[in-house]
Amino acid sequence: MNKLYQLSIHEAHELLKQRKISSVELTRSALKRIAEVEDKIHACVTITEDSALRQAEEADKHISSGDIAPLTGIPTLVKDVICTQGIRTTCGSKMLENFIPPYNATVIEKLKAQKAVILGKTNMDEFAMGSSTEHSAFFPTHNPWDLSRVPGGSSGGSAAAVATDEAIYALGSDTGGSVRQPAGFCNMIGLKPTYGRVSRFGLVAFASSLDQIGPITKDVPDCALVMSAIAGHDPRDSTSVPYPVPDYSQHLIPDPSGSSPRGRILEGLKIGIPQEYFVEGMQNEVRAALETAIRKLEKLGAEIDWETSLPSTKYALAVYYILAPSEASANLARYDGVKYGFSERGASNVIETTEKTRQFGFGSEVKRRIMLGTYALSAGYYDAYYLKAQKVRTLIKQEFDQAFKKYDALVTPTSPTVAFKLGEKIEDPMQMYLSDVCTQPINIAGVPAISIPAGFASDPSPSLRSGSGQGLPIGMQIIGKPFSEETLLRIAFAYEQATDWHKKRPPL
Ligand code: GLN
Repeated sequence: MNKLYQLSIHEAHELLKQRKISSVELTRSALKRIAEVEDKIHACVTITEDSALRQAEEADKHISSGDIAPLTGIPTLVKDVICTQGIRTTCGSKMLENFIPPYNATVIEKLKAQKAVILGKTNMDEFAMGSSTEHSAFFPTHNPWDLSRVPGGSSGGSAAAVATDEAIYALGSDTGGSVRQPAGFCNMIGLKPTYGRVSRFGLVAFASSLDQIGPITKDVPDCALVMSAIAGHDPRDSTSVPYPVPDYSQHLIPDPSGSSPRGRILEGLKIGIPQEYFVEGMQNEVRAALETAIRKLEKLGAEIDWETSLPSTKYALAVYYILAPSEASANLARYDGVKYGFSERGASNVIETTEKTRQFGFGSEVKRRIMLGTYALSAGYYDAYYLKAQKVRTLIKQEFDQAFKKYDALVTPTSPTVAFKLGEKIEDPMQMYLSDVCTQPINIAGVPAISIPAGFASDPSPSLRSGSGQGLPIGMQIIGKPFSEETLLRIAFAYEQATDWHKKRPPL
């Protein structure tokens, strides 16, 4: 048998249900794994060992009384932007370094309702702004496939942790790609749900018209289980919608024959391949892996249209970098040294307190976003930037609406490149921003998308070749119409059963 920490949710659930293992054993195993690898990966900001073991004991009691839900007793890690009562929630920022929320986010309440075990909180780019986790105020996280590379971001800690088996699954947040891009860089499954599908109550706000919480898991069935647990209407988040939550697992069609000719389990589905996502500057191996993966979807019965076009895609990055900073500049105004977290005490009056608090509390990328956003919203520039971006946002959304009249899903790469080197893009914000060029349009349109493992590339330059010799993971993004997460999971599961990419683990 695998080591306990290597199990998936559904495997662990079976063993717990049959009482072959206990939650305490499983939790100890994950904690031991964290202790073993954390000094190489640096995925976690806070480990809550004692409370995790208490939760595991509690879960075991429930299980022995016959009360078990899919996530009962299973250890998880949570991105440090999601509020956890009594557990420090830093947002990767000095500003909230010692902030202990007095309440739980709704997603945490939902995990707790199932008696999940929370192991701690994961590292991230400060306030979720970044694509590499290097903008954490504390330390960078390393990619387990090659320790000299980034795990992606901003949920880099969550993705690296699950890839290294520090937790059975994790939660992240995605404003422009922050669940999918790190999932892609670490060979994990990452789902950005439809805007409104999952409550954001207790998610520290970055850009409120774009933010969603999503799962990072080792396989597609696990992703379905976590989605079923966290989705749904929440009276405390007026942007969550009152639609019923499907049992996502029911939509996964088992196909033990894998890619056999009879296994055409995607028969009847139409998939478009938008040309604009195969951008200039994309690595050849990413392009090649995607082509092979799409042919696999075709073999599985899907009808592929290689000539799909979403022409406004080229404006998405510009639109994102006006809207997201604008919203961030408003959301981050609350950090004034009075109400939350860090406060610079050496100032002589209230204005100076606010100025110094923000000067020392925020890192440089956060300040850059606040300045960009404040500029775009200021009198005289509002119409030229913010309002214009909103109009183009509508165009982008309409193009997706049109495409989904024809297609059940769209398929693109998750990122134009594999994981890059630590330090490679940190001095060049524009290069960093380009890492999300394929994921941001999805948040702009509010539609759901999943990233799944779709192959490996050796770095084009031999001198930079991955230390493990295994090459670096490549992610495939599947995009769906609003509230069609079950279709995305169905396609993803069909592909997963026909390939072995998701089974590969980093050599740690
Ligand atoms: N990398 C993008 C940014 O820096 C997206 C981040 C996110 O999704 N939170 O804004």
